[in-house]
Amino acid sequence: MSFSQLGLSAELLRAVSEQGYERPTPVQKQAIPVVLNGKDLLAGAQTGTGKTAGFTLPLLQLLNETPTAPGAKRMVRALVLTPTRELAAQIHESVTTYGKYLPLRATVVFGGVGISPQIERLRRGVDILVATPGRLLDLVSQRALDLSQVEILVLDEADRMLDMGFIHDVRRIINLLPRKRQNLLFSATFSDEIRALSGQILHAPVTIEVARRNAAAELVNQVVYAVEKEKKRELLSYLVGSGRWKQVLVFVRTKHGADRLARQLERDGIDTGVLHGDKSQGARTLALAGFKNGKVTVLVATDIAARGLDIDQLPHVVNFELPNIPEDYVHRIGRTGRAGASGEAVSLVCLEEIKLLAAIEQVLKKDLPRLVAPGFEPSFSLNTRNPNLPRSALPSSTKRTNEAAPHRNARTPQSRRGGDALRPKQDGPGRRR
Ligand code: AMP
Repeated sequence: MSFSQLGLSAELLRAVSEQGYERPTPVQKQAIPVVLNGKDLLAGAQTGTGKTAGFTLPLLQLLNETPTAPGAKRMVRALVLTPTRELAAQIHESVTTYGKYLPLRATVVFGGVGISPQIERLRRGVDILVATPGRLLDLVSQRALDLSQVEILVLDEADRMLDMGFIHDVRRIINLLPRKRQNLLFSATFSDEIRALSGQILHAPVTIEVARRNAAAELVNQVVYAVEKEKKRELLSYLVGSGRWKQVLVFVRTKHGADRLARQLERDGIDTGVLHGDKSQGARTLALAGFKNGKVTVLVATDIAARGLDIDQLPHVVNFELPNIPEDYVHRIGRTGRAGASGEAVSLVCLEEIKLLAAIEQVLKKDLPRLVAPGFEPSFSLNTRNPNLPRSALPSSTKRTNEAAPHRNARTPQSRRGGDALRPKQDGPGRRR
């Protein structure tokens, strides 16, 4: 199946082929005809599946088929809502790239940067607006934005939008739109909340669901280093240095922890950037650009800041701390091995995190191999079957069988849980509300 068989116009096909895309991804194959038919869509697809082109291409085509009369003021006809600034910027970039041969205008608005240039751009008229919810409402309250002509609404990463507490903002925005419109909702998971939301927003939607291009369990080589908490930073520097890693995304739990780790890595002589919610937009853009162009070796990030980052073929992801929510582990490691390339996800796990590790392995439906780096041997073993028992409390025979040999892929026994599909739990008890 080629892009031309999907019914896209010559201008769009040209832009797509300039991107070097040869074939549509599964989500594109399924979504594009549905959107072109004017139907509502409920799509289960994550970042990395090609979903952005999946809604952007047909949306551009539909708008172009009924152009605004020459000279008439351009009003927002397509609104794309997305949870984070980075995602908004990336979608806008995609809209601009794919729409380069069409006479449509797009802009992006998000918080953390001055509002006046955004007001000015809106005043000049746009067809497609990509926005984060908070800033969009600010613009509405400043009467800088009229949403009465919106024909197509896209809710991107809807589950993240709910996780981040945007539900009320989203509802307020929807109340500002015309009742008759086409709605497209993309979400990585179909929790009860997402189903409820789609029930309210979508009209007789076509539902599609696709797996990640890199089903994490298969393509990403995942390993766990058992290490004392206070040795983690040193181990990370050692792994980066000895493995000559060039591009490493490191996840930590807190903004404060991110800053501290970045300072320490810099002191170890590693070029490091930081990405978290307290950084100014300028600092975040700079850190990301440095990371993408190879000037920055390690990018330390919190989960929210890293969500939806489109960094191609990231070779190494490190969980400096395990996430509290097991599903976040899946999102984190999904950053590696994009576009079919394989990647490595390394978790540095101390004894305090053993329950988090057990929860992650339960979601993955498999045990992760344990490694111990020479010189970093911990005083415990990560035995997730007995998570409450430190090694010192185990009988000596258990100690030996559970200890991974230094620098060897000491695989734990075959999973006792069975099953191999990677299916993030949809509405687990630990989910953020
Ligand atoms: P997304 O899931 O929309 O964030 O897209 C993930 C990545 O896949 C982006 O870097 C896109 O440029 C790329 N991509 C999208 N569609 C295709 C395609 N049909 N063939 C190859 N790469 C693609």
